[in-house]
Amino acid sequence: MDCLFCKIVNGSIPATIVKQTEKITAFNDISPQAPTHLLIIPNIHFENMGKLSEADEKLSGEMLREASAIAKDLGLDSWRININTGASAGQSVFHAHIHLLGGRTFAWPPG
Ligand code: 5GP
Ligand code: ZN
Repeated sequence: MDCLFCKIVNGSIPATIVKQTEKITAFNDISPQAPTHLLIIPNIHFENMGKLSEADEKLSGEMLREASAIAKDLGLDSWRININTGASAGQSVFHAHIHLLGGRTFAWPPG
C-alpha cells in the first residue's frame, strides 16, 4: 500500500523515531507546531483513529498509554493530544495518528 506512515514504520522512509514497540511507532513531526511535537501511530494501517478505535479498543488505549508514557519520559508536565479525523478536521495523512504536543502554552478552545 502506498502509505507514507506505513513506510516510516517499515523504515523505507526515514524519520526521527523516539519510540518503537511491537504495536506503535512514535516519531518527530516534520513540521513541528510546538517544541515537542510527536506523532504516535499504530504499526498496522488504519485510515483514521475513528476506524482504529472501533476495530481495536485495546490498541487505541495502548496509543494513549504510550502518549502519556512518552510525555513523562520527556519531562512534560503539560501536554496536548490532538486527533484529526477527516479532511475537514485537518487530517492530511490517512494512516491513524495521535499528535503529542508540549513545551509551550496552548489556547483553549483551539479554534
Ligand atoms: P494530520 O494533518 O493528518 O493530522 O497530521 C499529519 C502530520 O504529518 C502533519 O503534522 C505533518 O507535518 C506530518 N508529516 C507529513 N509528512 C511527514 C513526513 O514525511 N515525515 C514526518 N515525520 N511527518 C510528516
Ligand atoms: Zn499506513
